[in-house]
Amino acid sequence: MSNEKIPYKIYLEESEMPKAWYNLRADMINKPAPLLNPGTLKPMTAEELSGVFCEELVAQELDDTTKFFEIPQEIRDFYKMYRPSPLVRAYCLEKALGTPAKIYYKFEGNNTSGSHKLNSAIAQAYYAKKQGLKGVTTETGAGQWGTALSMACAYLGLDCKVYMVKCSYEQKPFRREVMRVYGASVTPSPSMETEVGKKILAEHPGTTGSLGCAISEAVEKAVTSEGYRYVLGSVLNQVLLHQSVIGLEAKAAMDKYGIKPDIIIGCAGGGSNLGGLIAPFMGEKLRGEADYKFIAVEPASCPSLTRGTYAYDFCDTGAVCPLAKMYTLGSNFIPSANHAGGLRYHGMSSTLSQLYDDGLMEATSVKQTDVFEAAEQFARVEGILPAPESSHAIRVAIDEAIKCRETGEEKTILFGLTGTGYFDMVAYEKFHDGKMSDYIPADEEIAANIAKLPKVEA
Ligand SMILES: *Cc1c(COP(=O)(O)O)cnc(C)c1O
Repeated sequence: MSNEKIPYKIYLEESEMPKAWYNLRADMINKPAPLLNPGTLKPMTAEELSGVFCEELVAQELDDTTKFFEIPQEIRDFYKMYRPSPLVRAYCLEKALGTPAKIYYKFEGNNTSGSHKLNSAIAQAYYAKKQGLKGVTTETGAGQWGTALSMACAYLGLDCKVYMVKCSYEQKPFRREVMRVYGASVTPSPSMETEVGKKILAEHPGTTGSLGCAISEAVEKAVTSEGYRYVLGSVLNQVLLHQSVIGLEAKAAMDKYGIKPDIIIGCAGGGSNLGGLIAPFMGEKLRGEADYKFIAVEPASCPSLTRGTYAYDFCDTGAVCPLAKMYTLGSNFIPSANHAGGLRYHGMSSTLSQLYDDGLMEATSVKQTDVFEAAEQFARVEGILPAPESSHAIRVAIDEAIKCRETGEEKTILFGLTGTGYFDMVAYEKFHDGKMSDYIPADEEIAANIAKLPKVEA
């Protein structure tokens, strides 16, 4: 076997790091559907969007044709502090599984935010600063995005207001404290600080919140505060664009050693890490240059691709955001409170939704106890304590490697290890104490939310 030649960790030289982000939409024949104005049901114009988002980010959001966007030097310099992220050959996991499969993972947990989110946070904060804004508002679920944005804002001297999903705020007090280290203000959502927060609390007293609620609050705060714009950590095209740095680095590192993955796996919350990881590989597939199998992995408790409907829906619970066409469980869908494993968003990036609808990508859902089992199996041999979100991808990578053991196929598997799980010890504790259950929504619950989708003609 020629395995010996491939190091445990493949790093790129500074000079080999990507100088431009890759815009996958430019190679898509069926473009993702445009965002719609919920009032007129017409595509959102740049002018309308720039009330909420920074101008340069609006331009990136609406651009379906430019293949490459140069990464500004200041962002490239920031990336150099924690990138390239390592591409690791999981020799130890392969051995433990007794599989002939070759497993690689791209590890994005090597920065204080503990996840890939910093890749887009620094870009979004950079454009906000460039526009001369005072600050930005955002939501955070598990806390990684809020942490990443706080870091980026501290670096650039911007104010940062974070609405944190209440159950995470309570479960992860140390996450909140990290954000405060970086100077952000953190409010549990839903809150009484915004009109939409008050309304949600009146309708759902005692709710533990959701990403959809927190987004509504952060948007309201941005549009009612002078010199502020809203930034979002996932779902949007611009975020997938920034996250393409993951896939570009992974592909460059693999090309360096002549490795071609057969299967590429990523967890899917709003779709940004997966969209970024697969981008250059999917580009080759779209252009007919190579073929890959792509698998999106989502939690069985929040299965937007596998059990949702492809339709226009609100991106947030309070229905203040534009409509996006996506696989959705309905913007009122709130995953059960006993769901610990992240990836709680009701919808999915419109780019990934279109690729999935076109049959270019597969999707599967996994139960959280199976996810934590895979997380521990991985932690014990590979040394890294993975985030629950990332562990969805680990679960499916292990399952695919076990299939190879059964068939004897030497497939090459690449998966995205999006982050570390140090702030998720309450979830790990529940798993150890046998207190973690596998809540799977009933068809009726999903149907009831789908019935409330806004009515938009195709
Ligand atoms: C936010 C997050 C995810 C999910 O978000 P995507 O936009 O789907 O990538 C996955 N893993 C980690 C560690 C995260 O912080």
